[in-house]
Amino acid sequence: MDTDYYTTLGVAKSATTEEIKKAYRKLAMKYHPDRNPDDKEAEEKFKSAAEAYEVLRDLEKRKIYDKYGQEGLRSSGYSGPGNFEDIFSSFGDIFGDLFGFSGGSRQRSQGPVPGNDLRYDMTIPFMDAVHGVEKEVEITKRDTCWTCEGRGIRPGCKNKPCTSCQGTGQVTRTQGFFSVRTPCPDCRGQGEIITDPCADCHGSGLVSKKKKVSLKIPAGVDTGARMRLRGEGEGGRKGGPSGDLYVVIHVEPHQFFQREGDLIYAELPMSMIQAALGCTLDIPTINGEKSLKIPKGTQPGQTFQLKGEGVHSLRGHGRGDMVVEAKIVIPKKLSKKQEELLEEFAELETGKDDHSEGFFKKLFSGGLGG
Ligand SMILES: [Zn+2]
Ligand SMILES: [Zn+2]
Repeated sequence: MDTDYYTTLGVAKSATTEEIKKAYRKLAMKYHPDRNPDDKEAEEKFKSAAEAYEVLRDLEKRKIYDKYGQEGLRSSGYSGPGNFEDIFSSFGDIFGDLFGFSGGSRQRSQGPVPGNDLRYDMTIPFMDAVHGVEKEVEITKRDTCWTCEGRGIRPGCKNKPCTSCQGTGQVTRTQGFFSVRTPCPDCRGQGEIITDPCADCHGSGLVSKKKKVSLKIPAGVDTGARMRLRGEGEGGRKGGPSGDLYVVIHVEPHQFFQREGDLIYAELPMSMIQAALGCTLDIPTINGEKSLKIPKGTQPGQTFQLKGEGVHSLRGHGRGDMVVEAKIVIPKKLSKKQEELLEEFAELETGKDDHSEGFFKKLFSGGLGG
């Protein structure tokens, strides 16, 4: 279900950090949203690559991932339930390198700055995933400071132009034969210095806010499903749009049901008498109790299919089936009377339909026992 991060980046499992970085850069360049406007597929690829890189670039995270996969990362708190993880936190350094030297094509910092996308991992009960559920979650995120409209300046005040770069936000550096322009370190590429920072956000343009978000989780979701909530991510600055919020679903296991796609699987304990004589049993399904006819002579491990008692298919219509596997329970304790009856039963069986006796006879007459 989880995609393999190495496959996503197209690198070998033994790839060095440098190779991983290179592979990511190539993909990020190719699928960057600026180069592929309104291309959903490119955007998804861009984000998957970022997620993979985010893990594989970090030796600690990579070690955990190699050993235990994404589940391991989650359980070690890197993206545990209820934690926020900024998918794009690694973008700064990569794109700083990528675009910083190309003559200042990274002008974003001077204009509107869009907010980062956020990831929210959510664990839901098994039955909620099967039937769908509406949830309201409270998330804490950095949102646009409306006192200064995300500009970081005290209202009514103005910034001073940066003297190091004459307000251009760029400085020229000489590297061998080349003259390269890089973001001005004094104003961090802004071109101006904040002299009167906004008191509410201390000049960052963002403040921490709690927000309630309503989620409609469709019936049939499974672990790994992602929901995108447009504009519910981190707030933008200087008039930039908010990022998106990605909710990643994790489904809790159920004590009785197991699930494989839209198929529900369960073990059904029954006594050897019930299995031998046949009976009708009330069994739990995801839609409540149903009765199931157990035929005479049911064997351990025999399965019964209940049409349409599985999970709603997330794409398209229809439902999967339920598969019930007979689990024959042998009594550990017998009453005197039961024991007598079984012995009587055994006597009737002798010589008639006794496979095990035949088997042993063959075994010993074959020379093993002498
Ligand atoms: Zn502010
Ligand atoms: Zn400057």
